[in-house]
Amino acid sequence: MRTIWAPWRSTFVSAGKSKGCIFCDAPKSNQDDEAMIFARRASVFGMMNRFPYNTGHVLIAPYRHVRAVEDLSAGEWEEMRCLMSNCIAAIRESMAPDGFNVGFNVGKTAGAGFSTSICTSFQDGTGTPTSCRSLQIPRSCPSTSRRLLRR
Ligand SMILES: [Zn+2]
Repeated sequence: MRTIWAPWRSTFVSAGKSKGCIFCDAPKSNQDDEAMIFARRASVFGMMNRFPYNTGHVLIAPYRHVRAVEDLSAGEWEEMRCLMSNCIAAIRESMAPDGFNVGFNVGKTAGAGFSTSICTSFQDGTGTPTSCRSLQIPRSCPSTSRRLLRR
């Protein structure tokens, strides 16, 4: 196994676990730049993962705290699906990844509450987050967020 050097994750790993929920707290702060929130819809929002597995690691969550996908209303699910689709199109156009890993984060040990995670995958070695190969992230989260905001 090759070593993944990801010093930016040390802040996350060494930080005390927050009692709050990032997906409830971040949008209420009304500091979208600081929270790296790049999209707001009526019932869901999109934000960059502050501790990404790869460039363009996006999280989408409802404003309402829910525990799992089955707790989403039909409207929340539809908005989440549409924002996921928009994010994938924007990332594909601006970063041209070779693929995506899309999944759900469910429960406190998986992050907090419920969110959708979209992560890019590149064949050239700049990121294969599920394969445990070496990983390189060539862009910062704020830089990636600005690229998505320009769309
Ligand atoms: Zn929450």
